[in-house]
Amino acid sequence: MSNKKVAFQDLIPYLEKNMAFHTAINIIDWDANTLAPEESSEYTAKAMGILSQEQFTSLINPKVKEIMEGLKEEALSQTEKAILRRLKKEYQKSEAVPANEMREFTELAARATNVWQKAKKEQNFSLYAPYLEKIVEYKKKFAGYSKKEGGSLYNVLLDGYEESFHVEELDRFFSKLKEEIIPLLKKVEQAEEIDDSFFYQEYDIEKQKEFNVFLAEYMGFNFKRGVIAESEHPFTTSWHNHDVRITTHYYKDNLSSAILSTIHEGGHALYEQGIRDEFTQTLVGDGASCAMHESQSRFYENVLGRSEAFWEPLYPKLQDTFPKQLGQVSLGQFVRALNKIKADFIRTEADELTYCLHIMVRYELEKQMIEEDVPVDKLPGLWNQKYQEYLGITPNNDKEGILQDVHWSMGDIGYFPSYALGNAFAAQIYHTMKKELPVEELLRKGKIAEITAYLREHIHQYGASKEPREMLKALTGEEFNPDYYIQYLKEKFEQVYQL
Ligand code: ZN
Repeated sequence: MSNKKVAFQDLIPYLEKNMAFHTAINIIDWDANTLAPEESSEYTAKAMGILSQEQFTSLINPKVKEIMEGLKEEALSQTEKAILRRLKKEYQKSEAVPANEMREFTELAARATNVWQKAKKEQNFSLYAPYLEKIVEYKKKFAGYSKKEGGSLYNVLLDGYEESFHVEELDRFFSKLKEEIIPLLKKVEQAEEIDDSFFYQEYDIEKQKEFNVFLAEYMGFNFKRGVIAESEHPFTTSWHNHDVRITTHYYKDNLSSAILSTIHEGGHALYEQGIRDEFTQTLVGDGASCAMHESQSRFYENVLGRSEAFWEPLYPKLQDTFPKQLGQVSLGQFVRALNKIKADFIRTEADELTYCLHIMVRYELEKQMIEEDVPVDKLPGLWNQKYQEYLGITPNNDKEGILQDVHWSMGDIGYFPSYALGNAFAAQIYHTMKKELPVEELLRKGKIAEITAYLREHIHQYGASKEPREMLKALTGEEFNPDYYIQYLKEKFEQVYQL
């Protein structure tokens, strides 16, 4: 132990170097997903690998560790404390697993992702099964290094994505969903089907682009600090609050797909653009967690973007853009169609009601893989059984079944529940917001900026300097409570379907 005095300032050069690598990697990654030519990936990946390694060692090295351990908490500002907390987490993560095993695993995951792609294309799970089996083995081994006495392996994995949201709480959450949402879905399916056929006429792509840019601007997306582009799968990325980028994907025969993904990614982007200058380009310069980020995108997409009040000031413009297709479709018909419920196979295309059932299937299977040692070759059968039980449908093949998501191949086991938590956070936030803001009235008057200002005040500005639970409690006055989500879904769809 050295007795040399250290100050937070001593960390700055390391943190800034790390930030610069982070920026470079994100820019290349953005490019790879939008503009880069088809055959570039393997060569660019080589450069990315080197940059990632540099980024890692810019932070994880003996010098930084010495400074980190020498810092006295009481001498630090709030922001510095938050950054130090994040830095310590990075250390815990890196020290939890021996470096050589982590390297082996990274290589395995890269291969597994390639094989998964091929297996999905060929609808052949058995091709992928041996790789998934190894991934599961490694994840269990890694979780074992950090597992507390008597604790569960799956909790360690869950902690890697949404800290402190463990099996006990998630079991309660999902069992409520099971109890309330499955019967609701059955009732909806017996009600009169909603006609959304007008979404699937021919819609000129250039005109769609024009409208989606207008829509993002209307939401408050700042084009002086942001960009919209196209990619196969829509996503959001940012390197700081002055450069936030979203993508969307346009289909000639589907109007609602691009619109809803623009609103969804726009929600992520408003979060990133709203982070305070003091936090951006630091370790706490991004969203508080996956679930908190998803709560914002889902709030804009589902709570606002599928409501009549949201569309009242916008719909005439959309009708003017597509008079032939929408001239005869009323605002009411349009909004009803946005809320059509139909159990289907693909999670990313799921409606608002069935979405969480898709997550529930994955959650239950992850628990079985990690905690009950269910063999990998049993998974497709279990998957199909659960889809039949919860959604009333059986996938025709593994491509629209267990092979549809990339997550497990990359080693992301324990990630899925944060999507469902995001929806539940959104409903809890909305419950409080409605008491303090005339949400519908603001939307009808086109004053969505006041709603964003509210979210900015309570959530966005803090970036990751506060924990999700802390922000949720400060805003809503209570701990995480999934009842608001169930209540929201029931009220909404009983009304949409006049049950
Ligand atoms: Zn999202």
